[in-house]
Amino acid sequence: SEHSTFEEIGQWLEEAESFALLSHVRPDGDAIGSQIALGFALEAMGKKVRLINEDGLPDNLAFMAGSDRIETPPDTPVAVDVVIALDTATKPRLGDRTLACVGGCKRWINIDHHKSNPSYGDLNHIDDSSPATGQILYNLITELGLPLPAESRDAIYVAVSTDTGSFQYSGTTADTYEMAADLTRRGLDVGGINALTYDNHPMRRVELMRSLLNTLEVEGDGRIAHWELTRDTVERLQLKPEDSEGLIDIIRAIQGVIVALFFEELPDGKIRVSMRSKDRRVDACKVCMQFGGGGHALAAGIRMAGPIGDARRKVLDAVIAELPDS
Ligand code: 5GP
Ligand code: MN
Ligand code: MN
Repeated sequence: SEHSTFEEIGQWLEEAESFALLSHVRPDGDAIGSQIALGFALEAMGKKVRLINEDGLPDNLAFMAGSDRIETPPDTPVAVDVVIALDTATKPRLGDRTLACVGGCKRWINIDHHKSNPSYGDLNHIDDSSPATGQILYNLITELGLPLPAESRDAIYVAVSTDTGSFQYSGTTADTYEMAADLTRRGLDVGGINALTYDNHPMRRVELMRSLLNTLEVEGDGRIAHWELTRDTVERLQLKPEDSEGLIDIIRAIQGVIVALFFEELPDGKIRVSMRSKDRRVDACKVCMQFGGGGHALAAGIRMAGPIGDARRKVLDAVIAELPDS
């Protein structure tokens, strides 16, 4: 159906016994946080829950309580009553092996905040007014009166904090701060969890910053900034996929920049593009959709064919075409 209410979803959560909770490839804090948040709430209701992600748990999120429950897709079919896709804009972004292992399950719930989500579930709750899927789950859990164990409480905070750039981006709403206040009253250790989320980087991430700065280019009268990461640097610094998480904010923050772009060579030769816009007149999601990607108006991405130089030129030309006059 087009849009399912929390009550309709709640009925499925009540009736089913077993669940597989999924999130997107190269999971971020909102993806893993959403899996933990809903997973532990369902477990506290006495349900059987599996938390599956194509790429498994990234090191930078291993501090999260309950994150040891994240597993990579097994080779054998996962027999559950209901599959729940979280924070995942399109079905293919769940990953091939993940889709294969839950292929036998006929009941799908899709909970997400990407406006480009085509509602690929049987029940769909897509709320692009929420800055994070974690905030939708907070609303679901509190409005339905479901349990909110400590793991879920902390996971919701990390999910929303990471997807809002520490409660800074314009998608952050009064509801977001009220949610954070409520989670804090429920015992969340704000200083502790922020230190683990933000002040805990491996040295190789700082070396990556050094390398990225050497590739920085600015064009379009200083309104576009972009940098790139090639395989030789990935191998030299022994980088993990999550090491670049959030670094685009450094060039997004440059005075006068409207669009920031990060181009990365993937092991399979494809190019991952991260795009950020600081101006509503440039819709990053719209630009990315021209190349098969998607996301949000101010934060979007693509996986596209290489080589990196060609991808960089094509996407930059598409961005230049969208720049406002003057
Ligand atoms: P990031 O740049 O942090 O990887 O992603 C920014 C946003 O764009 C996220 O909300 C993410 O879901 C979305 N996004 C990133 N890469 C892709 C992609 O290849 N396809 C689609 N549909 N969305 C993407
Ligand atoms: Mn995400
Ligand atoms: Mn998200």
